[in-house]
Amino acid sequence: MEIDSQKTAYVDLHIHSTASDGSLSPLQIIRTAKNIGLRAIAITDHDTVDGSAQAMASARDSGLEILSGVEISADYTPGTMHILGYLIDVDDPCLNETLRKLQKSRDNRNHEIIERLRLLGIDIRFDEVVEVSGGGQVGRPHIARVLVQKGAVQTMDEAFARFLKKSGPAYVPRYRLSPSEAIQTILRAGGVPVLAHPFTLNAKSEAELEAIIADLKQSGLKGLEVYYPDHSVVRTALYERLARRHGLLMTGGTDFHGAAKPGVFIGVGRGEMRIPYRLVEELKRGGRGDS
Ligand code: AMP
Ligand code: ZN
Ligand code: FE
Ligand code: FE
Repeated sequence: MEIDSQKTAYVDLHIHSTASDGSLSPLQIIRTAKNIGLRAIAITDHDTVDGSAQAMASARDSGLEILSGVEISADYTPGTMHILGYLIDVDDPCLNETLRKLQKSRDNRNHEIIERLRLLGIDIRFDEVVEVSGGGQVGRPHIARVLVQKGAVQTMDEAFARFLKKSGPAYVPRYRLSPSEAIQTILRAGGVPVLAHPFTLNAKSEAELEAIIADLKQSGLKGLEVYYPDHSVVRTALYERLARRHGLLMTGGTDFHGAAKPGVFIGVGRGEMRIPYRLVEELKRGGRGDS
């Protein structure tokens, strides 16, 4: 299926693979993206470049352009702050050292979450969680899936709402980079740092959001994820305005997680997204610092 009969080329710059909490492998993602006729994609797994590196190695000469990518969770309250990194050198030693630290802390935390769930009377073991994770990095969504499988909850949402969310009884914090550390980590690896899905910051007003963005720009932020399945038309227009006003690049992606996030599809989100290749060209120019 071609997603459009016209000649415009489309992209998806926010995709999760089995290297983190997505349900498709990098190879399955490449195949799907080619089938629907995308021109470029970026696999942006949480705190790992394994999926991205694997995709780049296997997509050579395939006609599909793969941009390197990662999504780093920064330390931020009361909302959630994710910083996307594009065009990073996936072999950068500093980047990999930092990611290893984040992964180690995730690993410790997963065991603690399981322990807490067991204390709450749920019979769950770490190896059951590893089994549903598909061999990549384990996260709360995998734990949620096991809770569903066991009938402890009906849905993933219920697993988060009752146990795993920030204020939930099984929540355990983990080591996170500060926003500026996350941005610097990406810049030092030659990448372009972009604020993902700005609405998850839960800013109380447009002015507050703008102040946060101005602050991040001071720390080296280069772009905003403007196009995203859960962004209303009004929100999208606001983010476009903020990007222009602060000289930031605009990116877009579906945050595809496969079966882990039903109803969101590669390239088209909930059906209506079309992200033009032009954004990739601007990203590459911005990455060279001549934007
Ligand atoms: P972690 O990376 O282990 O901290 O888990 C966070 C991830 O859980 C997020 O990136 C989301 O993909 C996922 N997540 C958060 N809330 C929910 C929810 N209600 N249902 C399913 N997945 C969720
Ligand atoms: Zn995720
Ligand atoms: Fe995110
Ligand atoms: Fe994401």
